[in-house]
Amino acid sequence: MDYNLDELKIKAIQIRRDILRMVHAVNSGHPGGSLGCTEFFVALYGVIMDYKLPFTMEGKNEDLFFLSNGHISPVFYSTLARFGFFPIPELATFRKLDSRLQGHPTTHEGLPGVRVASGSLGQGLSVAIGAALGKKLDGDENLVFSLHGDGELQEGQIWEALMFAAHHKVDNLISTIDYNNRQIDGDVDDVMSLGDLHAKLSAFGWEVLEEKNGNDLEAVIAILNFAKSKTRQGKPVVIILHTEMGSGVDYMMGTHSWHGKAPNDEQLALGIKQLYLEAPGDY
Ligand SMILES: [Mg+2]
Repeated sequence: MDYNLDELKIKAIQIRRDILRMVHAVNSGHPGGSLGCTEFFVALYGVIMDYKLPFTMEGKNEDLFFLSNGHISPVFYSTLARFGFFPIPELATFRKLDSRLQGHPTTHEGLPGVRVASGSLGQGLSVAIGAALGKKLDGDENLVFSLHGDGELQEGQIWEALMFAAHHKVDNLISTIDYNNRQIDGDVDDVMSLGDLHAKLSAFGWEVLEEKNGNDLEAVIAILNFAKSKTRQGKPVVIILHTEMGSGVDYMMGTHSWHGKAPNDEQLALGIKQLYLEAPGDY
């Protein structure tokens, strides 16, 4: 894709503004994880993925992305709109009746960019593996990407899928874990610790990469590019991406409490002030 780093950093600010405004407008939604994954989405859609517009569900000879932790739909929808999948003003319909932008993404509404319904946690890895195997059967050289919450890894289906992917050498898949150590009820370590995640994923036969600066756009681009260089070597690839829930809005950081809560009018104004944009492009 043809974006330079400065343009992408401005996009990240714009997407964060969109996230706050969308969730505030309907007093519901998930800002914390959305803000924490902004650099990942900007890197993926601005640099890393090879995709075609206009969007088609067929997905042949292009990279595919599956969002498994579907509740962070605000960052997904804003990214899709800001990278040309659908008109930006449609972001104003987020979570409204008859909107294509439902709280959790589904394919039923036909929103361009959404390839699977998600939000029932634990299922997206299996879907991504199926798509990656499909590409192999088709002789399609493109890659499949997926994103998962760290709390989501408490779901049993994830571990069956991890085992399956290694056994079947699904080496055209790059899965990323949003490793913020927060989930809806508290810190992941308090709710049900993942233990030594790096060692566990490695023991399950995956190529495991780790990036400590998941909210540094250049670092995220670099680790995703490195992950691409590790594909087609017999192992599925996973990135443990350390992020900060609520990144970019100070009062939303350092806590799990903004997992699924909307800012009020004063909090929105404060957040927007922190996400200063010289050339406002709000929808
Ligand atoms: Mg989390």
